[in-house]
Amino acid sequence: MALIVQKFGGTSVGSVERIEQVAAKVKKFRDSGDDIVVVVSAMSGETNRLIDLAKQISEQPVARELDVMVSTGEQVTIALLAMALTKIGVPAVSFTGSQVRILTDSAHTKARILQIDSQRINKELKAGRVVVVAGFQGVDEDGNITTLGRGGSDTTGVALAAALKADECQIYTDVDGVYTTDPRVVAKAQRLDKITFEEMLEMASLGSKVLQIRAVEFAGKYSVPLRVLHSFQEGPGTLITLDEEESMEQPIISGIAFNRDEAKLTIRGVPDTPGVAFKILGPISAANVEVDMIVQNVAHDNTTDFTFTVHRNDYHNALQVLEGIARDMGAREVIGDVDIAKVSIVGVGMRSHAGVASRMFEALAKENINIQMISTSEIKVSVVIEEKYLELAVRALHTAFELDAPAGKGE
Ligand code: ADP
Ligand code: ASP
Ligand code: MG
Repeated sequence: MALIVQKFGGTSVGSVERIEQVAAKVKKFRDSGDDIVVVVSAMSGETNRLIDLAKQISEQPVARELDVMVSTGEQVTIALLAMALTKIGVPAVSFTGSQVRILTDSAHTKARILQIDSQRINKELKAGRVVVVAGFQGVDEDGNITTLGRGGSDTTGVALAAALKADECQIYTDVDGVYTTDPRVVAKAQRLDKITFEEMLEMASLGSKVLQIRAVEFAGKYSVPLRVLHSFQEGPGTLITLDEEESMEQPIISGIAFNRDEAKLTIRGVPDTPGVAFKILGPISAANVEVDMIVQNVAHDNTTDFTFTVHRNDYHNALQVLEGIARDMGAREVIGDVDIAKVSIVGVGMRSHAGVASRMFEALAKENINIQMISTSEIKVSVVIEEKYLELAVRALHTAFELDAPAGKGE
């Protein structure tokens, strides 16, 4: 008998009918003798609806109260699923994060899980019940409700699987696995049978929202067998694995990720003296703004230009800080741009192949797409481009790296 943690995302529990379908699916596993812990998200659209409500009161609602409110989305779906299971003869009980005691730090809206108490869940499993746990939420040491950041139910699922030493964590969603790129953008994207934790971590952190980054981190750290599957279609899904098989057919690139969440800032004509980068980025980091890509130009006339990207939500804040710095340093000007996007190619195969970046640049050049910034690591190359060319760029790269599904196989 196995212990399986099954997480169902927002669209999979988006209506009462779907919740009943999920219940029927859980019953099938249960009937074959497995112990099941289910983690659910809020109904699709619900978290956004709740955040919008809060924003009608204040552009920057008190984070503690926001968490009290958005956590209600998941409280509704756990109760509905437990009811649906009971109705079809499966004994079930629902728990909020606080009832389980999923202990987190106090960083409201982006809390980290510190510890999970497995006692209460184990007791219920022993009594023969399916345990339904609210995703995305926890509780801090003082009893305040916290949430784990958007997409956080994935992390609840994996963290529970680790704490309970489950045999597998299954992430059920509205696609049948992890694809070479978002199948909603590239029709010829292909499902991957396997992807390594390392690659999945890059894909998630570079913008593929099919799994939350922290969920992948947890799964890697605690070696939780993790699989992404379609909620209502049969199929093998995608296994996230530790091993990096060296096979002849191993592709150089496993996937293409992209994100539109960044903005670019440039400060021009700053004196080219030691300590410049620190003088610029020190105050930015003191304002709690995280910086992603950075480019400093070669000096000319004893001055230099310095460009970096930040999350779009931090753009106005960063711009204000930078304008202050520019005045203090006597810089020529500050330029901001929110119409940018980041496209990244990811693959462990890059380690053993040269020329991957230039192949990427060639494909973009052929489409006349200008590259504004570049950053590389051992298993990824990212570029910043104008946002309006994003989809064209992703499709061009998908073709250039031979990831397109053979004709007739795409969606
Ligand atoms: P859930 O509500 O089940 O958590 P999400 O919307 O968070 O679902 O994640 C699933 C979505 O992720 C898919 O519908 C797909 O559009 C998107 N996605 C982005 N990149 C990928 C990828 N590489 N493979 C599969 N899906 C992807
Ligand atoms: N409901 C939360 C969100 O929309 C968490 C999740 O779905 O994973 O972000
Ligand atoms: Mg999600």
